[in-house]
Amino acid sequence: MRIHASVAALREARAPVGRVAFVPTMGNLHDGHIALVRAACQHADTVIASVFVNRLQFGQGEDFDKYPRTFEADCEKLAAAGADHLFAPDEAQMYPQPQRYCVEPDPEHASILEGAFRPGHFRGVATVVLKLFNIVRPDIAIFGKKDYQQVMVLKNMVRELALPIEIIALDTIRAADGLAQSSRNGYLSAEERAEAPRLYQQLSAVAEAVRNGAHDFTRLETVALAELERHGWKPDYLTVRRRADLQTPKEPGEPLVTLAAARLGTTRLIDNVEI
Ligand code: AMP
Repeated sequence: MRIHASVAALREARAPVGRVAFVPTMGNLHDGHIALVRAACQHADTVIASVFVNRLQFGQGEDFDKYPRTFEADCEKLAAAGADHLFAPDEAQMYPQPQRYCVEPDPEHASILEGAFRPGHFRGVATVVLKLFNIVRPDIAIFGKKDYQQVMVLKNMVRELALPIEIIALDTIRAADGLAQSSRNGYLSAEERAEAPRLYQQLSAVAEAVRNGAHDFTRLETVALAELERHGWKPDYLTVRRRADLQTPKEPGEPLVTLAAARLGTTRLIDNVEI
């Protein structure tokens, strides 16, 4: 695997022919990221991963400074998974001057759920992803459904801006006890780590009830939120939405997903289960 720190080096190294698949990450790689890289290898001739902790998508008081940076280990994992190139720019490469031109996603998509609790988050995500797309020029880009709303926002960005890129979304990789793999799991104490699978359990219980015909989503949500709170969580939301645009379901039979974000101690975890 070749590692490129500059935009110019990456551009020069990118193979001019064949399909290129791209896996953007913020590093501190775990099995979820590696599954994306493995899938990328199956879809393309050349696989390019990136590691860049994107300041633009972190709000004031969020964990940008303490976000885990494990570059050496990340390189080993990416090489073992089959990545051909790693683009690992520093901030001066990605943002040589303040980023004033930004992608403003549709507020209907970006100001709900995660966007309501992390104002500006999806603007930061969409801006860096468009910029990375312009640098890497992939044919395919692979993302995880762990960040369900992110995938929805990026698919809409690609469609509305007519980017010639296919977005592929892969299922969430979980630990044996159900906890979604996340770089932020490393913030959890041993006690919190033992409690953490409850988020997935509650989402699964809601999904199962809806599959079994429950219609009163508000009641299901209230019960699940109360159960989390009873075990010391501080939930931001736990809700049933339609998959396509993450709005409140309106018609029977719409494909649904249940999504949640909740704080355990100082760590904010998100997860979702398709219904
Ligand atoms: P991040 O490094 O958190 O920005 O994530 C980089 C990519 O990995 C995003 O597309 C995430 O959705 C994806 N990802 C993160 N966690 C998981 C997981 N547990 N399973 C699958 N994909 C994941």
